[in-house]
Order: sequence, then C-alpha cells, then structure tokens
Amino acid sequence: MEIKREQIEFDVLFVGGGPACLAGAIQLMQKAHEKGIELEVALIEKGAEIGSHCLSGAVMNPVALDELIPDHKNKGCPIETMVKKDALYYLSPDYAYRLPRTPRYLHNTGFYVISLSRFVQWLGHIAEEMGVNIFPGFTGKEVLFSEDGKTINGIRTGDQGLDKNGNPKQNFEPGIDIISKVTVFGEGARGSLMKQVSEKLPIFSGKMPQVFETGIKEVIELPENNNFKSVNCNDIHTLGYPIGLDTPGGGFIYEMKDNRISLGYLIGLSYKNTMLDLYDEFIKFKHHPFVAHIIRGGKVIESGARTVSTGGYYTIPELAVDGAMFVGGAAAMQDVPALKGIHSSMKSGMLAAEACLYAMETHNVSKKTLMLYKKLCDESWLMKEIYEGRNFAPALAKKMPIKMIYLGAQYFSKGKGVRDPMPITEDYKTITPVGKTEENSDKHSSQKTYDGELFVDKLTGVYLSKTMHREDQPSHLIIHDPDICINVCYPKYKSPCTRFCPGGVYEIEIDKQTSNPILKLNPANCLHCKTCDIKDPFNNITWTCPEGGEGPNYTVV
Ligand code: SF4
Repeated sequence: MEIKREQIEFDVLFVGGGPACLAGAIQLMQKAHEKGIELEVALIEKGAEIGSHCLSGAVMNPVALDELIPDHKNKGCPIETMVKKDALYYLSPDYAYRLPRTPRYLHNTGFYVISLSRFVQWLGHIAEEMGVNIFPGFTGKEVLFSEDGKTINGIRTGDQGLDKNGNPKQNFEPGIDIISKVTVFGEGARGSLMKQVSEKLPIFSGKMPQVFETGIKEVIELPENNNFKSVNCNDIHTLGYPIGLDTPGGGFIYEMKDNRISLGYLIGLSYKNTMLDLYDEFIKFKHHPFVAHIIRGGKVIESGARTVSTGGYYTIPELAVDGAMFVGGAAAMQDVPALKGIHSSMKSGMLAAEACLYAMETHNVSKKTLMLYKKLCDESWLMKEIYEGRNFAPALAKKMPIKMIYLGAQYFSKGKGVRDPMPITEDYKTITPVGKTEENSDKHSSQKTYDGELFVDKLTGVYLSKTMHREDQPSHLIIHDPDICINVCYPKYKSPCTRFCPGGVYEIEIDKQTSNPILKLNPANCLHCKTCDIKDPFNNITWTCPEGGEGPNYTVV
C-alpha cells in the first residue's frame, strides 16, 4: 500500500527532548532574537511529555545553565537541593568504609541535585515561550537522506495504528516527513537514528567503539525522622559491593526535597559474567547494611533505568555531516570520571546552536560549515573536561590491581596515564560463556527479598516507571535471528537478555512437551534503556522506537 505522507518544513529540527536539544533550541532562539533573525525551529520528543523519558542521577554542574539562563533561580528552575558535602565509600559485603579523600572529579559541593525529568520540563516551557515548536509524542523512525545519500534532509516520524503484523488498523495515521535545513540529533545514548546515520555515513569510522553503563534508579520517600540525616553528607557515591572492584560500576545516594532521596546503581556493560543480573545487583546494593540503614522505613515512589555513554573523548563520533549535527549522550558528550553528562550535553547543544545560526546566516548547511560546532567544542571548557577522562573507561574495564595502577597514573597525569589512547572493547564482545566465569549472581541470594514497598521486584519497578505500550502493534524489539537465541545463545550463554534487561522483557520458557527452550518477549514492559541493543553477545537485538508517546512516564526520577 502506498502511503501518502504530509510534509512540514523547518529551518532547524532538534530530535530528542533531553538537556542537549533543549539547551540548543533555547540558545539558538536567544542568538537569533539578538540578531533579529526569524527562524522556524522544531523539537520532537518520543515520550508523551517533555521529561517523561528523562532519567539521570542527577547531580548537575550548573556551569552550562549559568551561561544559558543566568537568572535561572528567578525563573523557577526546579532545584531539589544543593550538594553540601560529598563522600565516597568502599562497601565490603558487611561494612562501609569512608575514603579519607574524595577524588577531585567527585567534588560536587555547590552543584544542584535535580530531577532531570522536572528540569527538562522547565527547559521545555522556556523553549516554547521563545517560539520553539515542541512536539511530544513523536518518534523519529527514519532518517531522510538526499538522493545521493550524502545529506540529511530531516526525519520521518513513526506510523501510528498498525497491528501486530504491521497492517494498518482503522485508526491508522501515517508518520509525517519533517524536512529541515539542519537536523540536530540528541536522542541520548545509543540513539536509534544515529545507528541509521552510521550505516550510510562513516561517523564512527576511526573512532574507538562506543561503550556504556546501565543505571537503575529509584526515588525513595523516607520518613520524617530518617537515618540519612545522620550521615552528615548529602551526596554519596559507593564502590565495591555487590559487583566488586573488577567490574566497572557503583552506587549513589543523593538528597532531594521533602525527605526524598535519589538512589541508583550503575554497572559497566563491559562486564564479563553472563550470569550477572543487573536488577539483582541493584537490589543487593539496597540490602547492604549501610544503604539499608539509610533507607529504612522508606517507600519507592518512582523507578527507571537508562544506559549512559561512558566511552568519552576517543569515542566521540564525527560531530557534523552535511545537514546534521550530533549532540549530548548520542555523541558521547560525558565527563566520564565525574559521572556527569547533563552540563556537557547542554553545552554541546548550545555550541551546535551557534553553528546552526552561522549556517542559516550563510545559507550553507554543508559539513564544512557545520564543523564550526567541533571547533567551538575544542575551544571551550567542554572538550578540555572531556579530554581529561579520555582513558578512564578502558582503565575501569581492567581487573584489579592493574585497574588501580592505570587509574592512579591517569589521575596524576591529567588523563594521559600509562597508555594513551588506551584501546577499548565493544561491550557485546566481553561476555564470556557460562561455566567460564565465576557464577556469582547467586551469592548473597538470601538478601534478594522484596517487601513491595522499599524493595520491589522487577515488574513492580516497571509499574513504578509508569511504562505503557499498546500491545497490538509490531514489536519494537527486533530479534534478527531467533534460531541463534535458542540454538546458540541459550546453551552457550544461558540467555543473558533474561538478566541484563531491567524490565523483565525477555523470558525463557521450557516447552512442557518437547523440553525445548522458547524465548518469550514482553515488549510492553520495555523501559527504553537500550541495554539489549548494546549487550546481546550476537548483536542479534535491535531496539527501535515504538509508537510515539509510549514507554516510561517519569515525573520525578
Ligand atoms: Fe532495556 Fe531492552 Fe529491556 Fe527495553 S527490552 S528494558 S531497552 S534491555
């Protein structure tokens, strides 16, 4: 069936309603107003509202916000608290040891604790007031290229109202083609449109592979007289238990307003043990005596998961192509040792906006013109900061004690360390077959208990993320070769998708008659974290956007 699609045109299109694109859109409008230039600017977001898919720690360095909106406090910026004191703890299975010194990267005093979801809602209102056309509930399904495949002309949004087999239902609404002179991609880590671009244009060529961590996070409401008040710091990071020191990752607890805390655990997807269950590790972290003491009497009010791009400087793709630029987590704009990406994402969007304006003024959207963005990045504090963490992720992926030697050398040589650049392995290649690694996922299993309030299981976590998907639509999770799942992955790796997915989307059932394993998918539970797209050992899973407006509906995480 030939589908007739509506076309709308803009000067600039931002794809993604996170901090990178919103800061970029605001900066673009500010600069255009200053110069008296009229621009038609649009921003699309796949979540039902701006902020509904945004999840982060989130301690924010306010440096980019100070530049973008200096009077942000007067404008009602939703700040939860200010970091008063930070601390780093090493957790053994039973004890917590406060490190005498916190590494300089984690000195957060004066930074803001925010709910990223609320913060971007606020940015969204400002962008809208400045004239940006904001379209929540619209997915970018396909990148539109020029006939010669070299220039990006915009994107096609997803169709709505298809049945499971991809046939139009009565309420079918075809996606529209949004044509733009410049498209700014800021979809966050592992963007699905970025993947499409990289299949046509060599944006990752000659770069180190992108690597990631997956974080699971909750907002917990504590009783009025809670134990967190006695800890004497409101910004806590931990390393050690439960994943130990060989695997990258750690926990965090930040103070929010009204006796609420933000609590999370990140694990580097370079982990090796196929039996590792990300959600179980998160629950074990909460059960650690130090953490359990802090959260005693609390109740989880929202939950979610997301991957973060942690490769850093050497993994940054080509920042511009003809007609497009890449910003934020999608372009690995992360200060990796500091565990912070909001300010760097914002700054990258703001610098891309300057290049956009120049392209509009000169009526030239070629890669050469848009590479002004890279030049501005290189000249600003942004790249200086990111450059210092250039070898952090590869060092973190090493085992102890080599890891400490590499990290120590980097700490005292501004990131150079003993090898620069240090090679890094793609996350999907690091997992080892069952039996070849220590099967540690059942250690401390007695601690994996749930009470439905403070310790909730995976499915309750999905419920608390308010995730919704219409069931009768094509699966947005593409399994390229189901035979690999059953005949290769199951015997060799025991189906790690059933453990790395924090939403319980993948299940293996044993057929009662044949005793053969069957892979069952529950795409409706998907938290859009993208872990499966990254970590599947056969690269056999592709995450695509479901219908617009679906997925999590975060409001405070
Ligand atoms: Fe994350 Fe994939 Fe599971 Fe969705 S299906 S929650 S993207 S791992």
